[in-house]
Amino acid sequence: MKFAITSKGDQTSNMLMQKMRTYLLDFQLEYDENQPDIVISVGGDGTLLYAFHRYRKRLDKTAFVGVHTGHLGFYADWVPEEIEKLVIAIAKTPYQVVEYPLLEVIIRYINGSRESRYLALNECTVKSVEGSLVMNLEIKGQLFETFRGDGLCISTPSGSTAYNKSLGGAILHPSLEVLQVAEMASINNRVFRTIGSPLVLPSHHTCMLKPINDVDFQITVDHLTLLHKDVKSIQFRVANEKIRFARFRAFPFWQRVRDSFVCD
Ligand code: NAD
Repeated sequence: MKFAITSKGDQTSNMLMQKMRTYLLDFQLEYDENQPDIVISVGGDGTLLYAFHRYRKRLDKTAFVGVHTGHLGFYADWVPEEIEKLVIAIAKTPYQVVEYPLLEVIIRYINGSRESRYLALNECTVKSVEGSLVMNLEIKGQLFETFRGDGLCISTPSGSTAYNKSLGGAILHPSLEVLQVAEMASINNRVFRTIGSPLVLPSHHTCMLKPINDVDFQITVDHLTLLHKDVKSIQFRVANEKIRFARFRAFPFWQRVRDSFVCD
């Protein structure tokens, strides 16, 4: 089996990465940064997000596992003290794989340039470059509302505990094949009106944002932020691709939610 390890880059994570690499090579596993069967991310959730984007072209062939060197993460749930156990599990046992849905984002442009396609593990956010974001939100090709406010966050179920949660979105079990739309400070008064509640859409519903005036937007996909100019539309739906996590022990999602947000 071929493996790769990504590190957050700090001293603790780098040391742990070296240690795991040596152990796994001792078990006759092959280190292959380009075509790994398993990617171990050492650091935090951000490190796993980075690893996901690095290996997004081979998601069907790669499984991910995360070790955290800071606080408990949603994607990084192994502690440094457990790495011997984790290495043995990776080397010796056929591991279970769980698959979770992703978000597909397609940005189309007015000037006819080629559309951009992204996959998000957590979410995509759309904000204006200056002033309020004003966009029509369509669901399944029908106008749902004209949004005015700071921005919109469209998240995966796995990302529902991230930015989406800070915006008052619901926490969703990561196995659900849905996407969630959450508002950022919408303007609501006698003139402007939005739904005001997060929306959860099934996989056969497409959500589309279309500009009213401004056509330049600041769009994030997980940890990446880009300025997109001359935008005609931004389309969101549950992607065909999935992320695969290697599972070596049970760590129920709701327990992780409790340990992270309520108490441990
Ligand atoms: P970062 O260093 O700012 O970390 C953001 C925090 O989000 C970290 O504590 C991380 O552990 C946590 N996080 C990431 N994914 C999570 C998930 N699926 N469930 C629960 N917590 C999660 O940025 P980063 O490490 O590069 O991560 C990028 C993510 O930060 C974005 O995808 C977005 O979800 C999140 N973010 C959150 C807010 C907010 O809550 N106001 C604002 C911007 C970005």
